[in-house]
Amino acid sequence: MSTAQPKVVLRLGSHAEKEYFEKLAKSLDGLMFGGNLLEISPGATSSFILFLKTRRGGQALPFYLDPMTYCFGPYIDPQTGRIRTDLEALKSGRSVKRGSKKKFKGVKSSYQALADQLGAAFETAVKSSKAIDISSIASAGRDKLCQAVIDYQLKRIQEMLSEDELMKKFAGEGKPAAVFAPYFFVHEKWGGEGLKTAIDLATRTAALKPSAPVHALICASDSILSNAAHVKYLIDELPKTNAAGVWLWFDGFDEQQAPLDRLVAFRSIVRGLSGKMEVYNRHGGYFSLLLTQDGLTGISHGVGYGERKPVAQVIGAAAPTVRYYLPPICKRVGVPDVQRCFPDVGVETPADFFAKVCDCQICKGVIGSDLARFASFGKMHRARPESHRDSQTPAAAKMCRFHFLINRFKERAEVAKLKAADRHKHITDKASPWRNCYPLQQYLGKQKKNGYIELWAEALK
Ligand SMILES: [Zn+2]
Repeated sequence: MSTAQPKVVLRLGSHAEKEYFEKLAKSLDGLMFGGNLLEISPGATSSFILFLKTRRGGQALPFYLDPMTYCFGPYIDPQTGRIRTDLEALKSGRSVKRGSKKKFKGVKSSYQALADQLGAAFETAVKSSKAIDISSIASAGRDKLCQAVIDYQLKRIQEMLSEDELMKKFAGEGKPAAVFAPYFFVHEKWGGEGLKTAIDLATRTAALKPSAPVHALICASDSILSNAAHVKYLIDELPKTNAAGVWLWFDGFDEQQAPLDRLVAFRSIVRGLSGKMEVYNRHGGYFSLLLTQDGLTGISHGVGYGERKPVAQVIGAAAPTVRYYLPPICKRVGVPDVQRCFPDVGVETPADFFAKVCDCQICKGVIGSDLARFASFGKMHRARPESHRDSQTPAAAKMCRFHFLINRFKERAEVAKLKAADRHKHITDKASPWRNCYPLQQYLGKQKKNGYIELWAEALK
């Protein structure tokens, strides 16, 4: 008997990504977007929800509005390793005049608008450029903060739809599938206190009985996973919050780089919560999908990246180059590297490719009757005359993303068919023909004892 398929909730990072949602609307289990995106484009975002319904033959796509509350809390500066409470990560180069003369670097308008919507605690944080210190907020203040975050998620889109003559009759469609409790980043340095606060905020939010299921969000550094007491605390306390679900976001937890103990700890949280509440990995990939049999409800990620996501981005970091997702090893790799493996894995013709690599409509369309055309997935150009390096062309990046997403939906069905005890063999067998290909060693690990495929298999035993 197969398990229910895990849900794949796709995160809309910007309106430039809408095309992926429109074309794949029927395959999606959910849509998520941040409050900052909603606030910079309220009309476009609200109407997009209605539009997607039409692309699904009248069936609404469940959506989640992420209140992004963590952005207004403390974080660890990735460059110095120090705690920062100055909201610097929300600021842009833009200068704003405050008072008569002096100019300040201002908080980006999208976050400013979001703070105005989320209520007094958030507005004060932005005004004073000082992160919310949740530990200093007493009981009544916490309830108020939770209520404001609930109201934002439940009412904001309905309000915007009601204000539009044409859309107001659809205002009822503006209700999210769940409401998130307010959440703030928890680092190992304040792990005990931070997790306690996260549990408290989820408990309070559930006690306020909003008209949608409450989901907790645990946003914490991945070192929490190496602390047995913290892991046990989450397993024991999350179900007591009465939240219907939880989304796990362990900063730095990259399924393909995580050590065995953290993979095992992650799995133990999923197992520990199984049957008690819905469990999602907010930035998950194939390893998370394989935890379906342990009780994982679903994953979310962006259209072409974001299976891991740092809480604080390194400022000035280049956007990642989209590579080709190689389904047998569940990882994106450079296109020339895939090509160099063809002789080793017996791919000589397009038919071999469709049988051994991918037969999605994108790959079939690109390759057609000429295997050499596979190279177009990696087509590069000099994006701007002043660019120092070549980058993938927008057309190639788009093909890579569609191919990846179509595969993700196939994987969703594939994992649901597995028996729990067969998962470790499944992942090893799937990767096996490619495991010893020299060009893939940089991705798979030279030594089998450190390779993610082997670690996944071990963690699943
Ligand atoms: Zn494909």
